[in-house]
Amino acid sequence: MECPYCGYHDSKVIDSRDVNDGVRRRRQCLSCSASFTTYERLQPASLFVIKKDQRREEFDRNKLMAGLRKACEKRPLPTGTVDKLADDIEAELYRLGRSEVPSKVIGDMVMGGLKNLDDIAYIRFASVYRDFTDITALKQEVDTLLTSQAETPRPTGQLPLLPNDKLEELARSHRRNRR
Ligand SMILES: [Zn+2]
Repeated sequence: MECPYCGYHDSKVIDSRDVNDGVRRRRQCLSCSASFTTYERLQPASLFVIKKDQRREEFDRNKLMAGLRKACEKRPLPTGTVDKLADDIEAELYRLGRSEVPSKVIGDMVMGGLKNLDDIAYIRFASVYRDFTDITALKQEVDTLLTSQAETPRPTGQLPLLPNDKLEELARSHRRNRR
């Protein structure tokens, strides 16, 4: 803490007491001997997201939730699934112990989470996040998804490459046919 009068970098504490949610310290400048008061308060670590264009933006859980909700819209997921995923991602982010995280890291965490959750939600998010410029890139992503599923078969079965609503329609009729 620099002296507010002369800017000197060092001071000694001449009095210290606890106040509400912090500590109040009376300090004396080691250079000009002026005294001044500081308050020390515990602050939750804030996390900044480094955007693609290098701008920094404070991490916003609501934004994360909005993205997840959009991807999971109308998907047959149990209530609370999206909140749980947001919780997990948030906790994982803070566990990194960094003050700044590239948006890509968050995007990859979301992709990883959705991949385990729901194929369509995953592809929806991927199509926005990966910014697919053509159908070939999107097909590659779906192929990768299907290949990884072939290795670890899941009851949801394979999904054809079609627009979201068409996909859901097909998935529905597929489920009906199986009954
Ligand atoms: Zn001073």
